[in-house]
Amino acid sequence: MPPLRVRLTAALLAATLTASASAPPDDLLAQARAIAREHPRFWTDATIIRTGGSLLLIARGAPGAATLAGEVERARQAVNRVWKVAGAVILVPRSTQDAAVLAEPAGVRGMAALADVDHVIIEPEGFGRLSEVGRRVVLAHELTHVATGAATSGDMPMWLVEGFADYVGYLDSGLSPRVAAAELAEEVRSGVMPQELPGRDAFEAGSTRLAQVYEEAWLACRYIAERFGPERLVALYRAALDGDPDTAMARTLGVSTGDFTEGWRQYVRQLLVGPV
Ligand SMILES: [Zn+2]
Repeated sequence: MPPLRVRLTAALLAATLTASASAPPDDLLAQARAIAREHPRFWTDATIIRTGGSLLLIARGAPGAATLAGEVERARQAVNRVWKVAGAVILVPRSTQDAAVLAEPAGVRGMAALADVDHVIIEPEGFGRLSEVGRRVVLAHELTHVATGAATSGDMPMWLVEGFADYVGYLDSGLSPRVAAAELAEEVRSGVMPQELPGRDAFEAGSTRLAQVYEEAWLACRYIAERFGPERLVALYRAALDGDPDTAMARTLGVSTGDFTEGWRQYVRQLLVGPV
């Protein structure tokens, strides 16, 4: 099905808008309308693009919008192979300032995109600096967050939440770990090894080792997929959503968190400094 383009007019935003009798109810359109009504001035003459499983709400004059629908759909299909995506609204505001308002209370500094409960916000300047591969990784990462309900799973270990999103994001990217985890590779080559799986504080915006921390988390999940199998990584994520992370790990991987940490450290060392 080709993307369906609809100009977002005042009528489309009106509460009285109803789907035609023959069309199935469109939950994403309802979501987009509700979001748009919160900041109507951002979306005057905006464009809606409906793809297979996503809906893009694109502000008039937003940069880089021309190719985005295809990229979102490809990313959604990549995520779908690992974790079913029900669908997501993608907001494309025209400026960093507008993205910052939409993302409140989360910050957008240094971000290319971010996920909320049921939608993804593109930060147009950050996103515009990415390569084609980078855009695909970021979109798949954020759509994974939406699919797994990351914004509402506050007790989950952050290394698992962010590492899993990067695991899905980097699948099929063609990027080797030494390239994709360049900052961590440099640290490890200089003799500084990660000791523990990164905690929640390490992921806060402005943290000095943010790049390395995300790379540590990604490689923890990549290690699980390679050693135990991708389906066990998914099983661990689901089990951790329901309860204590240490118990989830023992139950799904059959190892203690301590033994897992040691295995992950060896994996990181071999992968980033060992013989190619
Ligand atoms: Zn993330």
